[in-house]
Amino acid sequence: MDEPGHFAQGALVAVLTAEPVGRPLDYRAPEGGCFAGALVEVPLGPRRVLGVVWGTGKGDYDLTKLRTIIRVLDAAPLSGAMRAFLVRMGEYTLTPLSVMLRLATRAPGLGDPPGMRKLFRAGEAVPERMTDARARVLRVLGEHGGAGFALAELAALAGVGASVIKGLVASGAVIEAESPRDAPFARLDPALPGLVLAEDQAAAAAKLRAALRGGGYGTTLLQGVTGSGKTEVYLEAVAECLAAGRQALVLLPEIALTGAFLARVEARFAARPGEWHSGQTQAERRRLWRMAGAGGVQLVVGARSALFLPFRDLGLIVVDEEHDQSYKQEEGALYNARDMAVLRASLCDAQVVLASATPSLETWVNAEAGKYARIALASRFGVAELPEMRAIDLRAEAQEAGRWISPTLVGEVQARLDAGEQAMLFLNRRGYAPVTVCRACGHQIGCRHCDARLVEHRFLKRLMCHQCGETEPLPEACPACGAVGRLSAVGPGVERLAEEVAERFPAARLAVLSSDLFGSARALKAAIEGIAAGSADIIIGTQIVAKGHNFPLLTLVGVIDADLGLQGSDLRAAERTFQLMRQVAGRAGRAGRPGVALLQTHQPDHPVIRAILAGDEEEFWRAEAEGRRAAGVPPFGRMAGIILSGPDLARVFDFGTELARRAAPLKRIGAELYGPAAAPIARVRGRHRVRLLVKADRAAPLQAALAEWLGQLKLPGQLRLSVDIDPQSFL
Ligand code: ADP
Ligand code: ZN
Repeated sequence: MDEPGHFAQGALVAVLTAEPVGRPLDYRAPEGGCFAGALVEVPLGPRRVLGVVWGTGKGDYDLTKLRTIIRVLDAAPLSGAMRAFLVRMGEYTLTPLSVMLRLATRAPGLGDPPGMRKLFRAGEAVPERMTDARARVLRVLGEHGGAGFALAELAALAGVGASVIKGLVASGAVIEAESPRDAPFARLDPALPGLVLAEDQAAAAAKLRAALRGGGYGTTLLQGVTGSGKTEVYLEAVAECLAAGRQALVLLPEIALTGAFLARVEARFAARPGEWHSGQTQAERRRLWRMAGAGGVQLVVGARSALFLPFRDLGLIVVDEEHDQSYKQEEGALYNARDMAVLRASLCDAQVVLASATPSLETWVNAEAGKYARIALASRFGVAELPEMRAIDLRAEAQEAGRWISPTLVGEVQARLDAGEQAMLFLNRRGYAPVTVCRACGHQIGCRHCDARLVEHRFLKRLMCHQCGETEPLPEACPACGAVGRLSAVGPGVERLAEEVAERFPAARLAVLSSDLFGSARALKAAIEGIAAGSADIIIGTQIVAKGHNFPLLTLVGVIDADLGLQGSDLRAAERTFQLMRQVAGRAGRAGRPGVALLQTHQPDHPVIRAILAGDEEEFWRAEAEGRRAAGVPPFGRMAGIILSGPDLARVFDFGTELARRAAPLKRIGAELYGPAAAPIARVRGRHRVRLLVKADRAAPLQAALAEWLGQLKLPGQLRLSVDIDPQSFL
């Protein structure tokens, strides 16, 4: 057989597995042969593991000992472009190929045959007898919509035995049904007409459609103030892509945003797209993974990890809210999904649309340099106007102790309540109070495992560490001096702000949106939909409220502490504050009623606060870009963070020092090395953290030098090292 990429039975092939072996291993092709990219099961030592046929074998292994692939799985092979993507991304982020493969095969039961299997869904009936266990099952089903669970998964999620579920089936409260595994998704119809576009929208859509018709790779920054109709525009690009028979992917930063988005897609194309995020059941994940490869799903909406789905023919990737920090994966393999989307698209002749009201400086600079095309939507769609922005100078307000809403802001909120409109108060701090201090001895309660103060969460009635997540009950006595009843909350979190709002506006209906107050993504989604429909008068939120939600009744946004993000020395502090404030303000006045955003600040003359209020975004980016260029920092220079951690501080430091001593490979490319130094967060979960920072020229071959440098030393046991290319966080 001479089909391209096909290996006949007995041929020498290289198979990549997700095991930490370091490189693909040689095997013999099985009976019937196999294609490059095929998912296979291979023997590895005494085990059978999942692998992918990576190409021709190297032949550097004893041929007489060579083992044979056990079987080829019934799933579409990974395309050449997908394999190239995993290789290139691994090289870029210095992530081993085996780890890359694990990212790309994160779906359960890939080796299982297709066919029918039993799924459990919520039924109509109410069980005669309700127990705690039964209630848990029904709650899990309620939170996950209609898709259904396999028995074992449902039992595990609800923390019950299979018999509890069977009992509910008998009573009709749960339905058990045979469902085909991995059915294709309903067809979206790209020929249906969309909304009638405004003039600038139509021009933008025409440009994107033309780029897609061109067939090659390209990236476009779609920049437009919140509410300018960007979503409507990029859905036109999706339509063009689907009409050409190719697949499209839309990445969203926040799964709570998917509900509203799915409804819009359904209205536009008359069917729902595939969804990929942590709220999906195992059965749904497996189905989507397989359909991406088989071409049985045209459009996928998902979180950053959807980028690793094995699309058969990906023609478009939209990264909505491209500036959002949650695109950066900060654990395990460290990568920025926005940048990797561009890499992936360049390898499969796809178009990328980066949509944002407040692009990252990286993207803005790429657009200025002509690397990305740029389309701007200048005004809000229809009658909606951008909110007016003003500062409230806290130095001039008579503020009572333990109160955070200034008299001016109180008056503005009251005016909205009187008019039957919504007001939002924004404070980017979870919990009740960021610090708990003993008034007898001044001790601040900290985490035992981390270099962090414990945050009081009154809703949970516990103190919580925001580094490691550990909680403990609020003590009666100070752990340092033993004084009883002297512990006191200092500073506000959203829960404390809610207390103040309830006191000041007792008749108002209050909604608090903070990621930790909701048991599940679906519950948060439901709360957001309720608010959009008018179920609350005052909304209090952390940064989850800043992200793209559409609240038509909202006309006032009050920022409790606009100075919060400006403290600290992060190189992106100004950029982040600017983006966050503009995004939050953008929630107001989205429908016909004009909105106002008020920023409480102690430094109304700070250049960043002034830029936010002036609303001259181009000017802000230009100034910020100049500053970064002068300092040689990203995006004008390149950085890599090295984070070492281990239980013993001295050993971690010694290893860091040893690395610094061998920096010759870095010197050769003209890079500078800083550290080792204790990380700003010096301890997490009992592990001490030490950082090194490498700075290099934009054009320097950084990855190769890093690989050579780090390859000189073997990591001692108990130590961990991670490399963060283009770091976003320096903690
Ligand atoms: P963005 O993504 O830029 O924040 P959206 O696409 O969400 O903006 O549009 C803001 C609002 O305006 C939405 O409610 C949307 O349905 C509406 N809208 C946008 N374009 C149109 C249009 N051409 N016709 C009717 N409504 C539109
Ligand atoms: Zn901790």
